[in-house]
Amino acid sequence: MSLDTRRARLWDRLGLGPVWIERRSPQGDRADNEDAPSELPGQPDAPVARMGWDQLERAVAGCTLCGLCEGRTNTVFGVGSQSSEWMLIGEAPGAEEDLRGEPFVGQAGRLLDSILAATGLGRAATGRSAVYIANVVKCRPPANRNPEPDEAARCEPYLRRQIELLRPRVIVLMGRVAAQAILGTDASIASLRGHAHRIDVVGASVPVIVTYHPAYLLRNLADKAKVWADMCLAREVFERSAQLR
Ligand code: URA
Repeated sequence: MSLDTRRARLWDRLGLGPVWIERRSPQGDRADNEDAPSELPGQPDAPVARMGWDQLERAVAGCTLCGLCEGRTNTVFGVGSQSSEWMLIGEAPGAEEDLRGEPFVGQAGRLLDSILAATGLGRAATGRSAVYIANVVKCRPPANRNPEPDEAARCEPYLRRQIELLRPRVIVLMGRVAAQAILGTDASIASLRGHAHRIDVVGASVPVIVTYHPAYLLRNLADKAKVWADMCLAREVFERSAQLR
């Protein structure tokens, strides 16, 4: 099932619509959808679905599509090499991320960096060790609450474009908000862990591993072993896909 179909089902269940359904032109290019926030104020000729990295980052920096823009200090676009083969997706910036404009720089971020280092990965690494980290929502929700479904929906084209531009070889979803956004399910993390899901990214089937969010882990240290197992599975899937290339 494609990313779009899953998302459409989830938004439908949440009573949110109309949904951005990806369509392809006869040439195979991504088509624009008039219902989506893909046309940005001041940039009518630059739909998000066709933006490059720099333009996309500028669009996020100027975004006013939901109320979260009112409380932000900085937008938090993403960090890591744009040629990373690994992509990690979290939920939304917290206080420290909002101040610094970088994802996962608070306590949860330090734990994430340790998990990455143990897996032989890093946000500042290059080559096969490089990871790119982004969030579902690019602005901090007040008092660190979960993003509302409509806030996630407004931000979704930006994340989708990041995934398309990166074309990662494996995606790790950290926590329920990320799993809902990408897999279009509100199933528990426990039930989604342990096997590779798949999404379509510009015609390629990309494996997706679900794990607990590092902030959850800070409160439930006993589940550390499960996250370790999830990262080992992600590495296994990554190595397997490397052999197929
Ligand atoms: N939690 C997230 O999901 N993302 C961040 O960037 C920080 C904390």
